[in-house]
Amino acid sequence: MTAYVHDIGGAPVIIGAGLAGLMTALHLAPQPVVLLSRTPLGTDASSTLAQGGLAASLGEDDSPDLHLADTLAASDGLCNEEIARRVVEAVPHAVENLIRLGAPFDRALDGKLQLGLEAAHSRRRIVHAADATGHELFHALLAVVRRTRSITIMEGITALRLVVTEGNIVGLLAVLHGNVFALPTRRVVLATGGIGGLFCDTTNPLSSFGHGLALAACAGAELADLEFVQFHPTALDTERRPMPLISEAVRGEGAVLTDENGLRFLADTPGAELASRDVVARAIANQLAAGSRVYLDARQCLGQKFATRFPAVEGICKQAGIDPAVEPIPVRPAAHYHMGGVAVDAEGRSSVGGLWACGEVACTGLHGANRLASNSLAEAVATAAWVAASVAGTCAGWQWSRLPAMVPMRPDPSPIRQLVSNALGIVRDGKVLREAIGTLLPIAVGEMAAADPALVALLIAIAALRREESRGSHYRSDFPRRDAAALPSRLTLCTAFENAVALNWQASERSR
Ligand SMILES: Cc1cc2nc3c(=O)[nH]c(=O)nc-3n(C[C@H](O)[C@H](O)[C@H](O)COP(=O)(O)OP(=O)(O)OC[C@H]3O[C@@H](n4cnc5c(N)ncnc54)[C@H](O)[C@@H]3O)c2cc1C
Repeated sequence: MTAYVHDIGGAPVIIGAGLAGLMTALHLAPQPVVLLSRTPLGTDASSTLAQGGLAASLGEDDSPDLHLADTLAASDGLCNEEIARRVVEAVPHAVENLIRLGAPFDRALDGKLQLGLEAAHSRRRIVHAADATGHELFHALLAVVRRTRSITIMEGITALRLVVTEGNIVGLLAVLHGNVFALPTRRVVLATGGIGGLFCDTTNPLSSFGHGLALAACAGAELADLEFVQFHPTALDTERRPMPLISEAVRGEGAVLTDENGLRFLADTPGAELASRDVVARAIANQLAAGSRVYLDARQCLGQKFATRFPAVEGICKQAGIDPAVEPIPVRPAAHYHMGGVAVDAEGRSSVGGLWACGEVACTGLHGANRLASNSLAEAVATAAWVAASVAGTCAGWQWSRLPAMVPMRPDPSPIRQLVSNALGIVRDGKVLREAIGTLLPIAVGEMAAADPALVALLIAIAALRREESRGSHYRSDFPRRDAAALPSRLTLCTAFENAVALNWQASERSR
C-alpha cells in the first residue's frame, strides 16, 4: 500500500478533540502536539452535549473523602480506590485551572461558585454553566487551544489504524477526503469518546461508536470493564437522534413516570423515580418490552412553572410539539456513557508502548460498574494533566518502519445498530449474546465499513457474556444475582477472538 507520509517531526498526536483531547493538548503546551478531529471541532463530541456539570468537592461541607465515598458506592464494588482518590483530590485544582482558562461557571451573588446537587451525591458539588455546561466549557477551552501556537489542529481527519512495531507505537494511518496518509510518531493519545453510536437509542453523537477501542484493540492493547454501559433512563422518545435528555432534575422536582394508562409503575420501588439510573432504566425497559409507552409527567409538580425551571428541556419538548406544562413527556432509556475502555495505569498509559488514553475511551478504574453523575468531565480534566506529563516525559524520537497491508474503510455503525441494541441493551441474556457474537465475528474480521463498529460490539458482547452476574449497569436475566467474588474484567483482541471462535465452534457442534 502506498500512503503519503506527513512529517510532524515526531510530535505526539492526540486523536479526538473533546474535552479530554483539548485539555491534554493544553497541558502539553508549549511542547508541540498535533490534535486530530474527525469533524470540524465541536461538531461530534459528547463533551459539547453535557448538561449537568462537573463533580468537585468545593463546598464548605464537602471533602474529597465524601466525594470518594459516593464514587465507591456508585461503582458497585469495582472501583479502583487508589485511582478514584487521586481523581477526586485533583478535581478541585482542575476546576481552578478551568476558571483560569476562561470557563464561565455559574456563581452566586457573593461570587462563590454555585454548586448543584445530583442523584447519588451526598453533597452539592456540581460545578455548572446553566444547563449547557459542556457547550460553554468546550468553547471556552477551544478559544484557548486555537490561540496556542504549539497545538496543530487537523480537522476532518479520521484515524484508521495505529501502526505498531515490536509492541510500540510508530505512527498512525488517517484519512482526509478519501486520501490515506501516515503520521509517524511514537506517542499517541486516544481521546475518542464513548460508544453510544453503536445503539439505535443514544444520547451520544451517532459517530461515537468507540473507534478508539477498535484502534487500541488492533494495536494489541488491553481493554477493561467493557460490559459496563450506562443507560440514561429518560431520553425524549421521538425520532430525533441523538436523543435529547430530559434531565434527572425534572424527576428531582417531583415528576413521575407512568405507563400509558397513567399508572405510576415505580411507586413501590425504594427511591421510586429517583432510584439509581440502572434501576429506573430497567423498569422503563420492562414497560416498553410489554408494549406500553412511558411518560414523564411534570404537570402536577411543575405545571406552568416548567418553562422557568427548565428552559432548555422545555425548548427541546416544544421543538417536538410537546408542552410539558400540560401534557406528559414520552421517554425511553438511551445508551449514554461507557464505563469500560482502554485499560490505563495512573499516568494514562495503555499496555502498548507509546499509547495513552484519556476521557471516556479510557478505563482508569474510577467508575467500576457504574458512573456517578458528573464524574466523567471531572475524570477527563483531572487525568488530562497526568497523561500530558507522562507523554511529555517519554522519548520523542521516531522512526517509520512499515505500513499495514490493509487500511480499513471509513467506519459506519448503522448496519449493526439493531443487533447491538437487542443484545447489549439494558437486559442481557447468554443465549442472545452468543448469537450476537456469532453474527458479529465475520463482520468484524471482514472488510466492510461496519467492521470496526462490529469489532467494538464483539468485544463488549464477549465481556458481557463472560460476566455471569448482575452488577451496576450490567444486568443478565440468566444471572440476576451479584457475585460477591467478581472482579474487574480484562480483554485483548486475541482473547476476544479465541472466545468468539470457540463459541462459534460449540454452536456448530450443537447444531449437528
Ligand atoms: C447528552 C450528554 C450529557 C452528558 N452530561 C454530562 C454531565 O453533565 N457531566 C459529566 O460529567 N458527563 C456528562 N456526559 C458525559 C461526558 O460528556 C463525556 O463522557 C465526555 O464529554 C467525553 O469527553 P471525551 O473528550 O472523552 O470525548 P468526546 O467529547 O466525545 O470527544 C471525542 C472526540 O474524538 C473524535 N474522534 C473519535 N474517533 C476519532 C477518530 N478515529 N479519528 C479522529 N477523531 C476521532 C470525535 O470527533 C470527538 O472530537 C454527558 C454525555 C452526553 C452525551
